[in-house]
Amino acid sequence: MKNNTPYAHPAWIEVDLAQFKKNILNIRKFIKNKKICVPIKANAYGHGLIPIAKAAEQAGADYLAVSCLQEGVLLRQAGIQHPILAFGPVYKDQVDDFVKYNLELTISSLAKAKLVSQALPKNHKIKVHVEIETGMQRTGVRTDSARQLFGFLDSDKRFIINGIYSHLATADQANNRFAQKQVASFTQFIKEINNRYPDAIIHLANSGGVLYYPESHFDMVRPGKLVFGYIDDQQKITQPIFSVKAKIAYFKVVQAGEGISYGHTYETKKNTRIITVPIGYGDGYRRVLSNRAEVLINNKRYPQVGTICMDQFMVDIGEDSAYVGDEVVLIGKQGDQEITLPELAEKSSTISSELLCGFNDRLPRYYHDQDTQFWEFDSLNSRLSH
Ligand SMILES: *Cc1c(COP(=O)(O)O)cnc(C)c1O
Repeated sequence: MKNNTPYAHPAWIEVDLAQFKKNILNIRKFIKNKKICVPIKANAYGHGLIPIAKAAEQAGADYLAVSCLQEGVLLRQAGIQHPILAFGPVYKDQVDDFVKYNLELTISSLAKAKLVSQALPKNHKIKVHVEIETGMQRTGVRTDSARQLFGFLDSDKRFIINGIYSHLATADQANNRFAQKQVASFTQFIKEINNRYPDAIIHLANSGGVLYYPESHFDMVRPGKLVFGYIDDQQKITQPIFSVKAKIAYFKVVQAGEGISYGHTYETKKNTRIITVPIGYGDGYRRVLSNRAEVLINNKRYPQVGTICMDQFMVDIGEDSAYVGDEVVLIGKQGDQEITLPELAEKSSTISSELLCGFNDRLPRYYHDQDTQFWEFDSLNSRLSH
């Protein structure tokens, strides 16, 4: 982890690691004695893979989960020791690295099990979690084919079955009939296996499962959105930890009747003041938010106006003043005001998770914990020097 500050860049992400750890502790209290697996796929939902993994370890998470081999390797190379499960598919040419980096993989069919068995070096063992299809229809072995798959895994002593799991498709609301049905199918399946794998961790619950379906908790839960504070959580178990900020780049006075930005999608109605903010869809601030989003400057909400460009956008501040270098909050708090990610997600017809994953590495990330602060940045910034 680098402790230097990034090459002066006027827009950045802030991540509150202290609150992130509290989120994990609060979820742990909520689920009582169950284990907690923290999904940190897709760059930890845009929060930054390595710092989030380290914080999750410190907060006592039992497992980390990624989507693909590449994410797991990055974690091991950064010194992460915790068990890591990859949810995604495994390919023949990846098996060596799954073993080498001690990553646990998902077996979702007999074909996958055979492929791993063939590619696995003779004396190596591999830790696997068997994924059961109960209604997501993404990956997972159907319950009526599972017996054959387990038979195959039992016959090859190199397989260590560390877990058996499934995934809920409709659990993000309470009292959903299909989610209840999935929980029931999985429960029935686990009953039928009847302690054949006493050491295997049984897991099913995503964020919705944790909040609304206590009977889905089994031995371990896998809350992603919830751990990052993004699911409608009446009980306020977790809080968001992600902010996006920038410094005003430009200030001007504009006459009435002027078109602003590409296509002139906004026209000033009276003489007004327009400021320019140096961040755009090239950083992950989605163009679909044009003329819909609001931002905070000096503890006040202002409308974003005109089409959002790749690297910049404009804000109409009316008769107010603001100066080059003043802080603009795109997501997060300023004074007693807050722009939330769900608010922007609704305005762009998507979910918070998608917006989070869209913020990329042109933006340096600033992390703060109780008594530490550090910058983390990738490709672009790390090749520059002051
Ligand atoms: C992404 C994912 C999760 C976490 O989902 P959330 O809805 O963000 O809680 C859990 N399990 C699996 C298999 C996943 O792919």
